[in-house]
Amino acid sequence: MYKVKAYSAASATSPLGPTEINRRDLKERDVQIEILFCGICHSDLHQARNEWIHTMPTTYPLVPGHEIVGRVTKVGSAVTNYKPGDLAAVGCMVDSDRSCPHCKAGLEHFCPNMVLTFNGPDKHLGGVTYGGYSTSIVVDEHFVLHVPPNLELSGVAPLLCAGITTYSPMRRWKVGKGQKVGVVGLGGLGHMGVKFAHALGAHVVVFTTSPGKKEDALRLGADEVIISKNNEDMQKHASSFDFILDTISADHDINAYLNLLHRDGTLTLVGAPPKPLSVSAFSLIVGRRSLSGSNIGSIAETQEMLDFCGQHNITADVEVIPIQKVNEAYERLLKSDVKYRFSIDMSSLKNA
Ligand code: NAP
Ligand code: ZN
Repeated sequence: MYKVKAYSAASATSPLGPTEINRRDLKERDVQIEILFCGICHSDLHQARNEWIHTMPTTYPLVPGHEIVGRVTKVGSAVTNYKPGDLAAVGCMVDSDRSCPHCKAGLEHFCPNMVLTFNGPDKHLGGVTYGGYSTSIVVDEHFVLHVPPNLELSGVAPLLCAGITTYSPMRRWKVGKGQKVGVVGLGGLGHMGVKFAHALGAHVVVFTTSPGKKEDALRLGADEVIISKNNEDMQKHASSFDFILDTISADHDINAYLNLLHRDGTLTLVGAPPKPLSVSAFSLIVGRRSLSGSNIGSIAETQEMLDFCGQHNITADVEVIPIQKVNEAYERLLKSDVKYRFSIDMSSLKNA
């Protein structure tokens, strides 16, 4: 065991502050990574404040962070894919049972024994896993990803959650040329959704509550931008979409978006508001529409997404902050005031 610096929340109401945590000594298949950047996902905030208490209660102290990129510092004796000095990344999960039907199908993220990068059961040290708001992490090599060398690292970190969470449903629903695709909410996930839908060749429409994001949406790859509070503009798109990705983190009227789907269109929820959303049966039965959900993505698909980003030169648009600004960043996230992902420069913690 060794000690590393970290930032943690002690309760649902306390701000995050500096602490020290333990990391395990390397087992034979483990990779030790010095964390260079960690993105701030809205899920970090939901969990720091125990907003998912009914589905995923938080154990404190909580060290959030599942958008991790860094450099390999050490590897276990049986590790074959990484060596010290390599770039490496870690996303939302660090383990699974490798024997259930989901794992065997290469879909570890649906494994009943999947271990989340933070707030999951730590079978090595006991207690819960601690995430990327820290200087170093030890992860089984199966859950470590290769980083394309041409990408800027602060913008790579958010790909590990915001990237895969938007890429995966777009691949599943075969987003591509000739399709009209909506992205609802232009935050961390939403802005990656726009980049992917555009790169896949779709006609992309962004729905935002923030008029100030219009120009950015077009720059990020949107063909059209709708201010969702404007009913008339919404109506112009009624029954016209093949696919809509909903990334909103808070309560909202999902029927307003279901009604924009074409016959047989699909709306996929990736946003995870703490309270249930209310769905009118008519929003679905008219036009035989589907409502679905999607949760991150598998390790293989995460690697595919990173490689796709390498080929298309895609990274997140980030505001790099020192860890000491994390509480301020959370408040700004709540106000939708980030363009479009905070990425923590972890040298600020190392040198503190
Ligand atoms: P984020 O950066 O805060 O973006 C959320 C966006 O939603 C905001 O930028 C805003 O966009 C819009 N929004 C916020 N409050 C709203 C409201 N009251 N009404 C309408 N729109 C609102 O958050 P994120 O990191 O992208 O995460 C989004 C959600 O996805 C969170 O709930 C997170 O927990 C969840 N998530 C799910 C998965 C998964 O696997 N399914 C993975 C990661 C995250 P505009 O300013 O453009 O309106
Ligand atoms: Zn996330």
